[in-house]
Amino acid sequence: MSVSQIAPRQKRIGVFGGAFDPPHKAHLELAKVAITQLELDELRVVPTGHAWHKARELSSAGHRLAMTRLTFEGMPRVVVDEREMQRAGPTFTIDTLEALQSENPGAQLYLIMGADQFAAFRQWHRWQAIVGLAIICIAGRATSTVTQAQIEAYGMLKSRFLQLSLPPMIVSATHIRQLLASGAGQSNDINELVPEAVARYISANRVYGTP
Ligand code: ATP
Repeated sequence: MSVSQIAPRQKRIGVFGGAFDPPHKAHLELAKVAITQLELDELRVVPTGHAWHKARELSSAGHRLAMTRLTFEGMPRVVVDEREMQRAGPTFTIDTLEALQSENPGAQLYLIMGADQFAAFRQWHRWQAIVGLAIICIAGRATSTVTQAQIEAYGMLKSRFLQLSLPPMIVSATHIRQLLASGAGQSNDINELVPEAVARYISANRVYGTP
């Protein structure tokens, strides 16, 4: 068989969205696991703009983007993608997936999320279209696990879901913000939860106010 007869492997693009307010070590670990387990060619890390499903006021896009860049800096295959921050009004994952698919015809998209997000997935805007475009890859969280029964509930679509194997990590952005608000963020606690460069950025820019 000549080389030209071997079909090229379909490009695999992961999409990992989040508020990243702030990004933390579980985000980093989840990105690594996704790249390895899904054999991704590229992972798009997409900080949300005005996410429709987060009730809380987020830190500025500029801060979240800077911290996300610091978190994933130098990590092979990762591209921090600003498109949702540049979009006016609410941001929807389906818009990002459709744009990525048209920029990368023939690529297979993988949407990466934690189990807490998956629990509410049926409330996402045009979720059926999302499942049509991307394979949904779910990682368990210490606070929220994903069960096979939850996946089975999707019936005919269940083959579009798969589980990532991530050791449970208790860290959440909410906990980090709470630590900072209580003043504990000045201690070493925060350094164990976020990359060092992010801890420095938070402190230098007082992203979460002065305790
Ligand atoms: P918050 O506490 O403010 O809700 P978060 O820690 O969940 O924030 P997000 O930026 O909302 O962080 O998360 C982005 C994605 O990463 C989501 O899909 C979320 O489920 C996932 N994720 C965050 N933390 C973990 C974790 N510890 N284990 C597995 N997945 C996680």
